[in-house]
Order: sequence, then structure tokens, then C-alpha cells
Amino acid sequence: MFPNNTFASFQTFLFTVINSKLPNVGTTIFTTMSALANEVGAINLGQGFPGFDMDIKLGKLVEKYISKGFNQYAPMAGVKELRTLLSGKIEKLYGHRYDADTEITITAGGTQAIYTTITALVHEGDEVILFAPAYDCYAPAIELNGGKPVWMDLTYPDYKINWEYVKKLINHRTRMIVLNSPHNPSGTCMSEADMRQLEKLVAGTDIIILSDEVYEHIVFDGNEHQSVARFPTLAKQSLSVFSFGKTFHNTGWKMGYICGPAQYMNEFRKVHQYNVFSCNTPVQYALADYMEDESTYLSLQSFYQAKRDVFLDAIKGSRFTYKPSTGTYFQSLCYADMFDEKDTALAIRLTKEFKLASIPCSVFYPDHLDEKVLRFCFAKEDYVLMKAGRVLSGI
Ligand code: GLN
Repeated sequence: MFPNNTFASFQTFLFTVINSKLPNVGTTIFTTMSALANEVGAINLGQGFPGFDMDIKLGKLVEKYISKGFNQYAPMAGVKELRTLLSGKIEKLYGHRYDADTEITITAGGTQAIYTTITALVHEGDEVILFAPAYDCYAPAIELNGGKPVWMDLTYPDYKINWEYVKKLINHRTRMIVLNSPHNPSGTCMSEADMRQLEKLVAGTDIIILSDEVYEHIVFDGNEHQSVARFPTLAKQSLSVFSFGKTFHNTGWKMGYICGPAQYMNEFRKVHQYNVFSCNTPVQYALADYMEDESTYLSLQSFYQAKRDVFLDAIKGSRFTYKPSTGTYFQSLCYADMFDEKDTALAIRLTKEFKLASIPCSVFYPDHLDEKVLRFCFAKEDYVLMKAGRVLSGI
């Protein structure tokens, strides 16, 4: 027998129906595919993370700051030295100067910056335009804040935005447009012409652009990253999100930053101070020192272009079709000519039977549009890419 009060709480446990705020959300595809890859011992080209270590110099710098006693809270907005360095870096690369004190905040990764921005700026009933396939954290953040995602599907292989169509989606409830270039999962990039069309479309409106630029340094074939910071009118109504993890091969550090006009950043910080307060102190000092040498991030283009080419070379005999990725460390491969199987089913089968994990792209569409496209992460050692290529070529 239960004592009375225990029995009562047991009953409550049994009969309380949790009124979920995200009833349709499960575990992310990245976690799911990594778990499956580990379980069956597959090569993991699914979840995007580097399969090699960061520069040991950066680790040594963190050790230095830890042993020098830089171990208490950093300022809420981030270590000043790092914000100052970032302000200079962005101005040099993209031409727009963000004020280090009021317009740049260091965050616990890109996803936190995105969540906090949406929480700070999207009101109940606001509409937010998203382009599918969309990285998985945008829509849940909007929904948790009472906003409404308004979708536009982009399709394989070019994933081009039809700006005339975007214009039709805009109305008085449109609060925000979420951009992502270089684009995850497709491995495509926005062009300068795209940015000019967007600039024209939102000029004079109070629409905010949330620009996810975490792969800014991973663009190929001589192309330039089209940051919102290159377009003065756009920069005035945009918040752009960046990642140290993607740039310095340490995604597990969960460090990033966000830039935008002071009026938006002020709202951002009101939320940030209560859900994160401030980020890892010694890591910020170490990054500020390390990034003094701009080759630490400017070398990334050729580094990843070579990896892309190793992977493409390794699959040139395969039956998959593709356009070479123009940015990010992802390559989309289409199997429409090979199988009829759903992409989610094929991704699981490839992992179990062929010991190669990937990410099915239909999960990034609200209606699970299945274009028979899988995403492969090529941020891996060359021998891993060659081994994966042999597997793909044999299918
Ligand atoms: N950004 C990584 C990817 O696209 C995933 C990170 C995560 O698992 N949330 O694969």
C-alpha cells in the first residue's frame, strides 16, 4: 500500500496529460543519425562536425588564460577584446562597422543567438518567413514564442529564392525573415543579386532580417560570402549570427556571436542576460588572441574546398547526381535515378547496411517534401572521405 500522499502523487503522475508546447517535435535528425551511426559502427557523414581536432595553439591559449586566473564571469555582452577584434574583422571583410560596445554580443553558439533573437523580437501572432529546407532550430523557436512560420519551399539542385513570391508572402504581420547563407543543408549560397532584391523588398518596412551566417568562411570557387553587412541599408535592419565552432573546428565549445544595430541588440541582451548571462571567459580571451592572425579564418576556404574535391573525386564513379557544393561543409547528393525509397528510409538503410550515415533532407521541409536528396558532411579526414566515396560508388 502507498501512504496516502505518495499514492496521490502517483495518481497525478499517471493521469496528468502533459500539455506540450511542441507536440510535434521529437529528437533532432542529427542526434538520431549520430546515435544510429555509433550503434552500428558506421562512418558518420550525417551530423555536421569536424572529424579532426582544432589547432593545438588555440587550446594552449585557453590553458594560458585558465592558469592566469581568467575564470570568473565575463561581461554580459562578452570580453571587450574579442568584441573589438570582431568589429574590426567584419569591417575589413564586409565594410560595415558594428560598435563593439553596443552592437556585438558573444553567445553560447549560433543556435542560442538565433533562439534569443526570436524570443526577444517575435511577438504573439507575428509571421516569420522561412525558406525550406530550413535548419531545424528556426521553426520551434518561432512557435515557442507564439509566432507563425510562413514557409517558402526551395528545390534541388539550385535552391533559388523567387523574390516575387517572397513579396507575396509579406503583409502587415510579417515581423522577420530568416536567411541562411552559406546554406545548410543544401550547400548553396545567396548571390549578390539575391541580396539586392531582398534589400529592395524590405527597405522602408520594419521587417527584421535574422541572417544565419555561421558558415561565412566556407565558400568555394572564388566566390565571396554575401553577408548582410555588405549592404548598408540591409545591415540597418538585420541581426547576423556567426560561429567560432564552425570556423575553428571546435563545435563542442558552443561559442558564437551576433551583430546588429544597437536598438535590436539592446532587446537581444534583455533576454540573453537571463538565459545565458555570459559565456566562457578563458575561451573568449583565447579567441581574441588567436584571431589576431587572420589566416586562422581566411585559410578555411581553400582547406574545405580541397575536402569537397576529395569527396567529389571519390564519388565520381557513383550513380548519385549532384551540383558541387558552393559553401558550407555539406554536399547534397540526389538518388532519384537510383531508388524510389523515401529519403528517411534510405538514410537509415545506408547507415545499417552500408555503414555510412547521412542526413535525409526531407526533414527540413514543413511538409517533408522528398526530393530524394541526402546531405553528406565532408568535414572529415581525407581517408574517411575516400572510404565513404568507395561505399557510395558501390551502391
Ligand atoms: N549544425 C549541425 C548540422 O547541421 C548539427 C548540430 C546539432 O546536432 N544540433 O549537422
